[in-house]
Amino acid sequence: MSSGKKGNQQESPETGRYSGNRSKAFLGGVDVMEHTPNAPALTGLARVGATARRISRVLADLLWPEPCAACGVMLAAAPAVPGREGGLPPALAPLASCLCPQCLSLCHPIAVPLCPLCGLPYAPEAVGHECSWCRDRRPRFVSARAAGVYGGPLRLAIHRFKYSRRSGLARPMSRSLAQAFLAFYGPEGADVAVPVPLHIGRLRHRGFNQALLLLGGFGPEHGLPPVAPRALVRTRNTPPQVGLSARERTVNLKNAFAVSDPAAVRDLRVLLVDDVYTTGATAEACSRELLKAGALEVKVLTLARVM
Ligand SMILES: [Zn+2]
Ligand SMILES: [Zn+2]
Repeated sequence: MSSGKKGNQQESPETGRYSGNRSKAFLGGVDVMEHTPNAPALTGLARVGATARRISRVLADLLWPEPCAACGVMLAAAPAVPGREGGLPPALAPLASCLCPQCLSLCHPIAVPLCPLCGLPYAPEAVGHECSWCRDRRPRFVSARAAGVYGGPLRLAIHRFKYSRRSGLARPMSRSLAQAFLAFYGPEGADVAVPVPLHIGRLRHRGFNQALLLLGGFGPEHGLPPVAPRALVRTRNTPPQVGLSARERTVNLKNAFAVSDPAAVRDLRVLLVDDVYTTGATAEACSRELLKAGALEVKVLTLARVM
């Protein structure tokens, strides 16, 4: 399967891999057709579905009011921020269902110009060129992109998602990730999505792998690449990366990952997904194993990126 794939194909019953017409699929209320040139207008049935979803969201807000994932203000009562109505970047717009308008206004999308390899954003007047980190190290992945800058309310929301078990945040965050995928890579930008794995010990402690939850909105039924949840495994329970330098992170992650199911990635363009891109050490360690197992290329996608 490769970039030569065309629409109007079907899921293979033998491989279970998707090769269908992604332009027809929905993405949790956001129609992928919006990203496809010459897409036909929404059908009457789709319009009814969209209205029903809007009504159910309003009812849910009334019955089960949610606090902002960053500042804790009740979302239904949070005042609007003048000047931001309708102006949210697509990759951050889904977070409006978990962050209040004030906190959302403090989130920054990742936008060009940026390093074409690792996705490091530059000042608006800069021209896109490889950053010094990429020039010195030549990453194995072809590119890394993120929905937003890691900081402020987005950092708090990700912390709540991971450490306070606010699993309700998975849905808007997954939609945000999906929008970033469409914006940066396009609907046909990868053949399979693979989450960065947790070691079984940490998985038991936390109860979930945040990277896998972020892929909850992916799959052929949403017009996005299928997920191979166990293609990559963590073979060592490495100490937390927090506070380590880039070099220490690389050493810490040596031989920490392995591909357990090479058939799930062989000859495919892999989308590697995690919650945060920090120094690129995890993405690099995972990419090495995926390419060794026969993946054609690795693209990295995270919800947020450290600047
Ligand atoms: Zn807030
Ligand atoms: Zn770079």
